[in-house]
Amino acid sequence: MTTTRFAPSPTGYIHVGNLRTALMNYLIARKAGGTFILRIDDTDPERSKEEYVDAIKQDLEWLGLNWDRVERQSERLDRYAEAAEKLREIGRFYEAFETPTELDLKRKKQLNMGKPPVYDRAALNLSDAEKEALRAERGNGVWRFKLNHERIEWTDGILGDISIDAASVSDPVLIRGDGQVLYTIASVVDDTEMGVTDVVRGSDHVTNTATQIQIIDALGGQCPNFAHHSLLTGPQGEALSKRLGTLALRDLREQGVQPMALLSLMARLGSSDPVELRADMAELVDGFDLSRFGAAPTKFDVQDLFPLTAKHLQSLTLSEVSDAVADAGVPPELAEPFWAMARENITTLADLKGWWELCRDGAEPLIDDEDRDFVSEAMALLPEGPFDGETWGDWTKAVKEVTGRKGKGLFMPLRKALTGMERGPEMATLLPLLQVIRARN
Ligand code: GLU
Repeated sequence: MTTTRFAPSPTGYIHVGNLRTALMNYLIARKAGGTFILRIDDTDPERSKEEYVDAIKQDLEWLGLNWDRVERQSERLDRYAEAAEKLREIGRFYEAFETPTELDLKRKKQLNMGKPPVYDRAALNLSDAEKEALRAERGNGVWRFKLNHERIEWTDGILGDISIDAASVSDPVLIRGDGQVLYTIASVVDDTEMGVTDVVRGSDHVTNTATQIQIIDALGGQCPNFAHHSLLTGPQGEALSKRLGTLALRDLREQGVQPMALLSLMARLGSSDPVELRADMAELVDGFDLSRFGAAPTKFDVQDLFPLTAKHLQSLTLSEVSDAVADAGVPPELAEPFWAMARENITTLADLKGWWELCRDGAEPLIDDEDRDFVSEAMALLPEGPFDGETWGDWTKAVKEVTGRKGKGLFMPLRKALTGMERGPEMATLLPLLQVIRARN
């Protein structure tokens, strides 16, 4: 059965880049009627925080990306220790004692000689006595997985055929000197034991994947299908990594971005299919095809989320936004006509408040000098309330007859006088709201 996972490290809030990974894995599982696991990669006790675990769950819930179960790496440390033991037994695991400074020096030397900065495996030549001495001097070493120097090949769900020379990659450290198990092995053990069939993650993981394929083989596991999506860049193609902190999902929520707008964009960005606003998750699942995604860096512009949000809001009925309408201060008896007026004129729900204030308090009239007499004349013709959907038409007809003005010269000064703005809602739908308020005050 298709099983996927989203595996964030709870060391911060998740952002649009993480969402791309989460969404692709989610959609693959749902499309196949499979299982979607939320895996918390919390093997780093210092950097992992419970508040981020909660925040990640809240963010996914907000988007409707529901998971079938949660797994936590911190609860599976014995499984990783077992796998490490197995690697030791089969001779694929060795202890190394270089300090970070020594490693750095080695890398610099290699680069100076025009060689790739790959770990030279000096630790493999240490005798037991030498190791003992180093351990006494420096404490426990790190444990490195001994790669087989051959080509590692797989067909990537997005990148196509990949072939990496294992000799060009350093033997990965899987356990730190302090005993902390690192992601590379923890992830392999989990993916294998949890029956993960498909792994989509960022292309920054491609080298990891190569080493993980060898670790999976060494442990006798079954390799999942791997796919690596391109990384997001800013609108100009600039690296987004530094700015991702400001693109946390909770910031977008705060800015009024609607889940369907965000999901619709992220499910298509970087694919050869057009971005289209989807009505619901079922449509997203239906229209998702991993093979349509390309390897090129994907431009992300946060501004694209707002027209999609506006479009999504336009499609909603009052019952779907009644809380927001009430929060804006609109009394229940006016909620229906207010929403009918406002839905076409907002970008986010935060804009409701402004429209309600206009209805409630009126606006500072905007009247050009040459329109002053005309506006006074027109105002004198404004019928007694209550107003309804016909009032605007009846009134402007009467004004036209008396003043001889027509078209824009007739409507625009009235709109500006009543709303203080040159653009905005249909006056026919706005006017009754203005009047009702006036009548009530
Ligand atoms: N915790 C890893 C990360 O956030 C997971 C990567 C993976 O999907 O394997 O980068």
